[in-house]
Amino acid sequence: MKVVFFIISIMLLFPSCLGEPPGTMLTTDTKSIAPTQVLHWKMTTTWPPNFPVLGEVAEKYANWVRELSNGQISIKVYGGGELVPPLEAFDVVSNGTIEMGCGASYYWAGKIPAAQFFAAVPFGMNAQQLNSWLTTGGGYELWKKTYAPFNLVPFLGGNTGVQMGGWFNKEIHDIEDFKGLKMRLPGIAGKVLEKAGGAAVLVAGSEIYTSLERGVIDATEWIGPYHDYKMGFHKIAKYYYTPGWHEPGSQLEFFVNKRLYDSLPKDLQAVLEAASQKAQQWVLAEFDRQNGIYLEKLVNEEGVELREFSKETLDVLRSYTEEALQEMIGDDPLSREVYESYSTFQKRITPWSRVTEKAYYNKIMN
Ligand code: CA
Repeated sequence: MKVVFFIISIMLLFPSCLGEPPGTMLTTDTKSIAPTQVLHWKMTTTWPPNFPVLGEVAEKYANWVRELSNGQISIKVYGGGELVPPLEAFDVVSNGTIEMGCGASYYWAGKIPAAQFFAAVPFGMNAQQLNSWLTTGGGYELWKKTYAPFNLVPFLGGNTGVQMGGWFNKEIHDIEDFKGLKMRLPGIAGKVLEKAGGAAVLVAGSEIYTSLERGVIDATEWIGPYHDYKMGFHKIAKYYYTPGWHEPGSQLEFFVNKRLYDSLPKDLQAVLEAASQKAQQWVLAEFDRQNGIYLEKLVNEEGVELREFSKETLDVLRSYTEEALQEMIGDDPLSREVYESYSTFQKRITPWSRVTEKAYYNKIMN
């Protein structure tokens, strides 16, 4: 009875999410198991089709959900642009045209300034710290609260780990070297660059290489060695800077239409959550593995010169970031609430990270 009610309610709410009736979910004892309606969902991503790691995990998520739900939820994944333009994912899942999306919450900062705390903020928490805030520090509850008015439920979708600081054709000795620099640097980091006298240029992923090659931009960031190698930036830029102060660990997301999610039985809701935990685990592991391989290729095979931003340069960028964050939060109570939770958590966890992770890295891994 419960199953019948569930199926009817789904059909009323989301007629488009239903595909062919009963899947082949019968076991040898066919008399005791009622045929079960298979839910056919679409997931639209903000990544290009088959994008390494980020696109791969969307496919993996779909497979994990299919396995864990015993075939009851079947998700077909579409790359950005295949169904709708990449940055329309939020709206089409919100209004129920498409059941699920995959991206990073800072893409929606124009609509919801508070959203970017659930992805990455310059000089913010790294993957391990952010995972702690989201998992046991109240961050995820705030994320759900932030998305609820938009009829969305967020799920953890992995983390890139600390990104690289970008590709330059001149050395960055101090903050003065950012003056007049045209760099592809999105989001709030772009505003920080502007405070340093540079110009943040908005360039789509597919156009970064030619923009850098032709001098439309002087520098760019992307992700890390694995993805940057595939983009070929080492062929047209000399210096590869670290650390990625602008993206200290970008959290990725899945999101589901909330009315659809609320209509699911508890076991299927739990499946979406369990698959998201697998994604959270897999993405960082795969980023670290591939980045290790490709960093070696870049340095040893391609002769890329690694450089570090100086402490003084980073200190100035950090102070500009604080200004930019305060301007961004403005009078928005939700942004302030999320910012307070995030920054309080960061202040509390940093001394612990300093005497453990940082001490280990500095004293043992160098
Ligand atoms: Ca990036």
